[in-house]
Amino acid sequence: MQPYSFDLEFAKEQDRQDPLRHYRDAFHFPKIKGKQALYFCGNSLGLQPKSTRDAVLHELDQWSELAVEGHFEGALPWMHYHKFLQPQTAHIAGALPEEVVVMNTLTTNLHLLMVSFYRPTRKRYKIIMEAGAFPSDQYALETQARYHGLNPDDAIVEVAPRPGEETLRTEDILAAIETHGLQTALVLFGGVNYYTGQYYDLKAITDAGHKAGAYVGFDLAHAAGNLPLHLHDWGADFAVWCSYKYLNSGPGGPGGVFVHERHGNNPDLPRFAGWWGHDENSRFLMRKGFHPMPGAAGWQLSNAQILSFAAHKASLDIFAEAGMPNLREKSLKLTGYLEFVLQRSIEQGQNLRIITPADPAQRGCQLSVRTGANGRRLFDYLAANAVLCDWREDNLSGEPGGVIRISPTPLYNGFEEVYELGRLLEGFSQ
Ligand SMILES: *Cc1c(COP(=O)(O)O)cnc(C)c1O
Repeated sequence: MQPYSFDLEFAKEQDRQDPLRHYRDAFHFPKIKGKQALYFCGNSLGLQPKSTRDAVLHELDQWSELAVEGHFEGALPWMHYHKFLQPQTAHIAGALPEEVVVMNTLTTNLHLLMVSFYRPTRKRYKIIMEAGAFPSDQYALETQARYHGLNPDDAIVEVAPRPGEETLRTEDILAAIETHGLQTALVLFGGVNYYTGQYYDLKAITDAGHKAGAYVGFDLAHAAGNLPLHLHDWGADFAVWCSYKYLNSGPGGPGGVFVHERHGNNPDLPRFAGWWGHDENSRFLMRKGFHPMPGAAGWQLSNAQILSFAAHKASLDIFAEAGMPNLREKSLKLTGYLEFVLQRSIEQGQNLRIITPADPAQRGCQLSVRTGANGRRLFDYLAANAVLCDWREDNLSGEPGGVIRISPTPLYNGFEEVYELGRLLEGFSQ
């Protein structure tokens, strides 16, 4: 592609050449004071696909017209609803259809999978994770350690950036796994760190964890729908993610789960079971004795939350059509343009610093920008100009300022919006 240029015509031409540009029309954009927002918040809550409303209404109609028979009738009988999400979910995760299932929500699923894959012994009890992980993950791991009678300060090893650095070095992650290897029961990492936007080398982490004799699981909340994933080939033991961020499935949308096929048919793995994970051929015999469904489906507890699953399906169908490799191709260009636009405003004197790695292989669509003391004022200025991005206080260093996260998503954002953001930055006086 030609070098970037800060120029409206350039941005418009990039949008014209974008083979995915028509997907933008498939989404509802919020308005702020009558003006369509520049929406860069897909890392927090993805926009609503226009197809979602009909998908949900369809299930409400099924319920009103068929009532209990809706479990068995119609195009998408509720009884089998999780199966209608499996092919698209497998595409998102880079998995075999049997290795994935949609159920519950993210943190719940993390706990459920840790029941199976975090089984500390006296010698092997540690969990290796990234420092500064999303708080829900920190709380989940802390309480899992306590649940097993362990002291979290001893059981949880956090890999932190080196002094003066913002992100992790892969070599430091791998070294930590090697150092604690014999004592490590589980390596549990994010895919993309929610704060810095750093995308970890999940294959290298998986290999190192397995070499140490540990299980390896990932929280892909900020990676699913953001980057093409290859969980099956990487060989991870399990993964969990949510669907309301890049996957555009609406607030509180259902969670996704991956369990590698080498574990999927092992009934000896301990798990907390429910009737929906029981063999579907005998589920309604209502007999004693749990026999899991093969694959990830065997971890299900309850029957599907049809209304939120319907919204999830409407969105997943768009991803399956657009294709993660195509989305990534556009994402590399679009986030590259955002980086170019931000660097330009930094050169012009804005007190900003991009903390997301400059290497495109180590990031998805999000760029995190550390601000100076005037950061909150900048954020408020952008908000007043109908830019939706998000603000995080710098709660680690205690210094004034914070981090603004900007996430142009390849499905519904375009170059012109990034250009407009750059124009607004030009108009901000320190
Ligand atoms: C968004 C996010 C969560 C949220 O968990 P829920 O159970 O869906 O509320 C958890 N972990 C990470 C890493 C996240 O980014």
